[in-house]
Amino acid sequence: MSHDPNCIFCKIIAGQIPSKKVYEDEELLAFHDIHPWAPVHVLIIPKLHIASMVELTEAHAPLLGKMSVLAPKLMRELGVSNGFRTVINTGPDGGQEVYHLHMHAMGGPRPWLKG
Ligand code: 5GP
Ligand code: ZN
Repeated sequence: MSHDPNCIFCKIIAGQIPSKKVYEDEELLAFHDIHPWAPVHVLIIPKLHIASMVELTEAHAPLLGKMSVLAPKLMRELGVSNGFRTVINTGPDGGQEVYHLHMHAMGGPRPWLKG
């Protein structure tokens, strides 16, 4: 399924739920997390609905590569200059809450709310 009508991130991609976007291209979208843990906290998501890392196949490798390369670029653009954390939560024990693959990118001066 390339799009899940019940998925909150698919709704953000479709513009049905507002978000503070920081980046968009044909394949990826990035926006500020609604409950930031850190001074800068963005989510990088593929426009393709992939529920979690469990669903990944070899064909998705370039997409994951693009997400990884985008993270430092966005952190730099958002003024993060002293390091950042990237996290992908997977499944119940991984603490995943939204089942549309996303990479958290968090940075900014400490202390942070969490982590
Ligand atoms: P997870 O625990 O699945 O890795 O993280 C999901 C993240 O999505 C959480 O940090 C949560 O704050 C964020 N989130 C959930 N719903 C929304 C929303 O409607 N808008 C935005 N911008 N972030 C959301
Ligand atoms: Zn989705």
